[in-house]
Amino acid sequence: MPLPAAGTVRSTLEGERRRLRAETGQAIATPEPMTYGSQAAAASQVFEQQRDLALRDRARQQLALVEAALGRLDAGTWGTCEECGEAIAPERLEALPWAALCIRCQAARQRRRS
Ligand SMILES: [Zn+2]
Repeated sequence: MPLPAAGTVRSTLEGERRRLRAETGQAIATPEPMTYGSQAAAASQVFEQQRDLALRDRARQQLALVEAALGRLDAGTWGTCEECGEAIAPERLEALPWAALCIRCQAARQRRRS
């Protein structure tokens, strides 16, 4: 399987960056004053706000990955594992164009983390 074309990758990454920027830029609903509504409503509001924050956090992390991948594309190092310097499998790049690590290094990193 050949590597995905750089132009295709770039437009995929740029599209993803646009989407994530919109997502991370979205205003989080400000909670209503506590005097308003029941405690249950207030609790569910807090829950929703925390969920929004978590989602936004993930979007922000993803955005950082996408931006790093665009940087590697510019630098000509895209598709190379940042850890071991080996080529990342084309299938992996096809599915995750922002992947910075080959499967082996990614798995090793996850093992270290857990
Ligand atoms: Zn590697």
